[in-house]
Amino acid sequence: MSGAEQANLLNDTTRTSGKDALKKNIDAAVAVSDAIRSTLGPDGLDKMLIRDNGDAFVTNEGVTVLNEAKVEHPAAKMIISSAINQSNKLSDGTTTTVLLIAELLQNAWELVTKGIHPTTIIEGYKIAMNHTISHLEHISKEVKSKDDILAIINTSLSGKGTSSMKNSIANLAMISMDGVTKTNEEGVTFDPTLLKIIKDKGGTITDSWTMNGIVIPKQAVHPNMNTDIVDGAILLIDGGIEHKDLSINASLKITSAGMIEEFKKQEVNRIKSEISEIAKLGINVLVCKDGISDEGIRELEKLGIAAYRRVEKNDLELLAKATGATISNNPQTCSKQHVGNFKRSREEKWGNVHHWIIDGVSNKGMTLILKGSSSQIMDVAEGAFNDAIRLACNLERNKKMLPGGGGSYISAARNIKSLKINELGREQLALDAFAATLETVPMALAQNSGLNGLDELLNLISSQSNLNNKDPNKASWLGINLSSKTVENTLESGILDSAAVVLQSIKSSTEAAIAILRIDDVLWARQDPSIPDEVQQSLDNS
Ligand code: ADP
Ligand code: MG
Repeated sequence: MSGAEQANLLNDTTRTSGKDALKKNIDAAVAVSDAIRSTLGPDGLDKMLIRDNGDAFVTNEGVTVLNEAKVEHPAAKMIISSAINQSNKLSDGTTTTVLLIAELLQNAWELVTKGIHPTTIIEGYKIAMNHTISHLEHISKEVKSKDDILAIINTSLSGKGTSSMKNSIANLAMISMDGVTKTNEEGVTFDPTLLKIIKDKGGTITDSWTMNGIVIPKQAVHPNMNTDIVDGAILLIDGGIEHKDLSINASLKITSAGMIEEFKKQEVNRIKSEISEIAKLGINVLVCKDGISDEGIRELEKLGIAAYRRVEKNDLELLAKATGATISNNPQTCSKQHVGNFKRSREEKWGNVHHWIIDGVSNKGMTLILKGSSSQIMDVAEGAFNDAIRLACNLERNKKMLPGGGGSYISAARNIKSLKINELGREQLALDAFAATLETVPMALAQNSGLNGLDELLNLISSQSNLNNKDPNKASWLGINLSSKTVENTLESGILDSAAVVLQSIKSSTEAAIAILRIDDVLWARQDPSIPDEVQQSLDNS
């Protein structure tokens, strides 16, 4: 193919290649990172996001900002998907990941302008990443106590709400662990279908509480029903006990007067017989997803069965898990196998609303009753609770922790700087660039707390280096405590990160940076060839 023919092939594309392509991709990465850098850490600022429909909300979560951003640039999209991936895997460490990607790329660019080829930088970054991971694994410590877990959750919820709110959420998450987790081949994982959240406006987040069992804002279908039952049996029906609606469910050929009356009588008898069959199962509580007819309610009341109707499907599923019941599809086919058990079922009036409270026999199924002065505050607390539970599960699977407050990153940077790998040539420069990248984490943390980033960074490096001569193990655990604004032993100040989160951030940021460094050609399709010209034109004109 001639050069001219080749050029023709790319007629419909805009092309940037070589250094230009790399620079444009790096600029996009830096733009993404700049958008969320100020949210990092305990004093990170919030961002106000406004959706297309004008709804505004405030968040401190880097990943939420990126999720909402309408980003077109492919490199920026790659970075955002790395952050989302980190968030899905570990629900933490996303801002750090993005920051590291942008910094790795900016430092790489400086080397490229000095004539170092991206392939050499990639090799150097891989070596540095592997050393960093083994160093951090080496200095990590076992998570031993409940206090360690609470400290890690508290550190992870850093920018979310006040410290009393974080403490309450961390505590609630810890006590709910057993009730809302399942164990599968991956280990312990959070099962959101085991958690019912009720937002009860009023008070503050610290007044929130959890209970074993399930709370549903409902009352029994008849006030005379006995609703306070201990050690009872329950039946769940994914349907109702109702009259057939003549216009929908039945076709009736009317041949004589009184036939409709007769049909109605038969329906009442059918309902009564369905209920007497159900009663033979020995249940005390009946729950239906749909309605229960008036005759049915009277019959149930006579038989001493408390009944709840129009209960949502996900609540039925939650009740099934908590009581060991199997949901029946239809009242006619219920059997003993469908019946579940509970320790206690009762009703309480909270404010003006009746709540049905049921403690199942399995230890699964919990309700979190969130209190708060506004729905926005309760939403933030709900997000924090979900993150806290996920983190607690991750810690159950990977019981390792690392120093927070930038300690891990400085320890790893010192380690890389101390490496003298003889056979390395120009890659050594990439190792230095990697170490400099790690140092930006404590620097950004300090800057976001209104401190001088460079001074704090130098102070932390020299504190670790000085102690390193006497006690290298302790040296790595020094980090900046941004509450007291001093360099401290993070084990004592309880500023601790989950090792899995830190390691994943380092791995995914290096991988993303490498993927971007590999690109030396960006071809933008000018238009989607599958769209016919006329349509494209009208789109362009619209
Ligand atoms: P990410 O999205 O990366 O998790 P965060 O905004 O949650 O970002 O900030 C996490 C960082 O903040 C971690 O490096 C953690 O060690 C640090 N951090 C949290 N609380 C403190 C604190 N009180 N003092 C110093 N560093 C803290
Ligand atoms: Mg975090």
